[in-house]
Amino acid sequence: MKSSNLMSSKKVGVIGAGASGLVASRELRREGHVPVVFERNNNVGGTWIYNPEVESDPLGVDPSRTIVQSSVYDSLRTNLPRESMGFRDYPFVVVEEMMMIKDEKKETSSRTGDNRRFPGHREVLNYLQDFANHFELIELIRFETEVIHVSLLDDQEGEKERKWAVKYKIRSSSSPPTFVVDEEVFDAVVVCNGHYTEPLIAEIPGIDTWPGKQIHSHNYRVPDPFRDQVVLLVGNSSSGEDLSRDIAGVVKKNALGDDTIVFQDGSSVLVDVILHCTGYKYTFPFLEINNTVTVDDNRVGPLYKHVFSPLLAPGLSFIGLIWKGIPYPIFELQSRWVAGVLSGRILLPSQEVMMLEVEDFYLKLEAAGVPKRYTHNTFDYQFEYSDWLAGECGFPLSEEWRKQMFEAVVKKRITHLEAYRDEWEDYNHLIMQAHEDFRNYL
Ligand code: FAD
Repeated sequence: MKSSNLMSSKKVGVIGAGASGLVASRELRREGHVPVVFERNNNVGGTWIYNPEVESDPLGVDPSRTIVQSSVYDSLRTNLPRESMGFRDYPFVVVEEMMMIKDEKKETSSRTGDNRRFPGHREVLNYLQDFANHFELIELIRFETEVIHVSLLDDQEGEKERKWAVKYKIRSSSSPPTFVVDEEVFDAVVVCNGHYTEPLIAEIPGIDTWPGKQIHSHNYRVPDPFRDQVVLLVGNSSSGEDLSRDIAGVVKKNALGDDTIVFQDGSSVLVDVILHCTGYKYTFPFLEINNTVTVDDNRVGPLYKHVFSPLLAPGLSFIGLIWKGIPYPIFELQSRWVAGVLSGRILLPSQEVMMLEVEDFYLKLEAAGVPKRYTHNTFDYQFEYSDWLAGECGFPLSEEWRKQMFEAVVKKRITHLEAYRDEWEDYNHLIMQAHEDFRNYL
């Protein structure tokens, strides 16, 4: 870790109060900065705020549709054991266990009492709400306030660092709501707007003329609308796996009819509905930064270590772009790194060195045949990445039990897809090791 003694406090605009915005604001304040969090919703938790409403366009491609942030479906349970999933110094354990770990009599909590190792989505939302309350983050958040424009201000004479203008729209609670637009200047902006809201649809020749119904998993909530329908699922990652099992009890096996889907090998199937479980696009509709950071085939770049724009660092950073792994401990470390860099406690390499590192990373992906859209998929190196961040921040390295829990989940999802969330007895020793560490952290 390279560090400097020149500490400075910054006024930082944080966009979003989901898991990444919450932990970013906590780390920024801990470091002595003044974070202001903008959240367009009326609560914290982002994608974990289950919304029974879906968008007017079930495919989610109509740009004029009203956006629904959450992609959570009613039956959703976590795909990680809770111990591995939570932030390090606020573990995601059941409330009674937390009281025992902290040796406290009382801990106010909004938890649902869903004590399963892989709990349902409401328990995750309540955990994030508890986190926000515990660290008194609510006072930092401006709810019902959507950031609509972020730009770099022109150099002002005598100022060492450039400032950022954040324009936002505040929604009133009146009916119908009214909107007030305002603008504020910040020393830095941390983007935490999530990336599970804008559907990505696979390119399939002929699909535009296919007459049946199509829906993206973003707009799936419950199985009932699929009753007695023949459904084709596209995509076999987390949501494809979950939704195929969710609808299995209500759908119809395919029968003869007109709406034929033809596969590459020439075989075909007749279906009523295509359910696209094909992932999401990164979008930053509010960013006006002259193409210094772009989204190209779902690669947000150039970004140094998935976080800093080399050309705009340290003023512009992104938390939470990575996927396919254990995200929260990484969000926590990314946030700690950003906070330390902004205060001057941690030094970044020069712009040239960061650019070279990014170019080298892209070349390695290309040589390995990894498409650009997998740039932020850290599955193969998440713990090396965490440990690199931890090294920069002076934080302990990834715990062995966390690594082993992740490996176990990956294996069990292949061999026991139906029951991997409920068969966890073989790993009790890892749970015990996790609790031991939590006691030390707290
Ligand atoms: P989000 O939760 O999307 O939060 C972004 C926030 O930014 C939102 O509150 C939004 O309203 C706000 N926002 C966006 N734009 C603006 C704007 N312009 N102005 C103001 N506010 C704005 N992770 C796990 O660890 N375990 C799991 O089991 C798991 N399961 C998942 C299942 C599904 C279906 C999905 C979609 C994701 C899952 N994830 C899981 C990953 C999940 O995304 C992360 O857990 C995490 O909650 C993402 O947090 P975030 O803050 O980055 O984004």
